[in-house]
Amino acid sequence: MAKSNMDQDILKVLFSEQEIHDRIQEMGNQLYDEFHDRNPLFVGVLNGCFLFMADLVRATQCKSEVEFIGLSSYQNATKSSGVVQITRDLQRDISGRDIIVVEDILDSGNTLYFLKDYMLAKGANSITIVTLLDKPSRREKPIYPDLAGFEVPDEFVVGFGLDYCQQYRNMPYIGVLKPEVYSK
Ligand code: 5GP
Ligand code: MG
Ligand code: MG
Repeated sequence: MAKSNMDQDILKVLFSEQEIHDRIQEMGNQLYDEFHDRNPLFVGVLNGCFLFMADLVRATQCKSEVEFIGLSSYQNATKSSGVVQITRDLQRDISGRDIIVVEDILDSGNTLYFLKDYMLAKGANSITIVTLLDKPSRREKPIYPDLAGFEVPDEFVVGFGLDYCQQYRNMPYIGVLKPEVYSK
């Protein structure tokens, strides 16, 4: 095990590094079957997607392209504000493309509801939503993943790209923070 000063802040581990790895491999195989003859464009939602994106595109061994968009609806809080801002726009034309959106977690749905509309308006041919985590109990918008790694309960989770106040993104597993970490 690598040295870590983050483990001590974790109340419980939800998904281990190995479980995440195995599940992403399965997801990649599924995406290969569906997309290998369509040159899909993976669009990762920054910043939370960065580890999942890196693993998912390597697990999906088909000719494809990668792109990123920066979206933010959180002001360092643990609840969505509902207002989505583009912090880094797409850098290419997506019209006619088959898009695979890569997200860390689908929670209220505000972010992906916005993004889906935005990309359809830019002429995307199809949009497939792939999220590592799905928290369906908190949904505010009618939006559903086409493929989800794991379902999570209504708890604030960190690790494997997901942050609390920008920290914990580099933990190799996903867990729930101890309540005292919030009140510090
Ligand atoms: P939304 O509420 O719009 O579906 O999700 C917006 C973003 O909020 C997610 O992409 C993710 O970055 C963040 N988010 C939602 N739930 C959690 C959570 O439990 N933990 C962390 N770290 N971020 C979350
Ligand atoms: Mg996200
Ligand atoms: Mg965040």
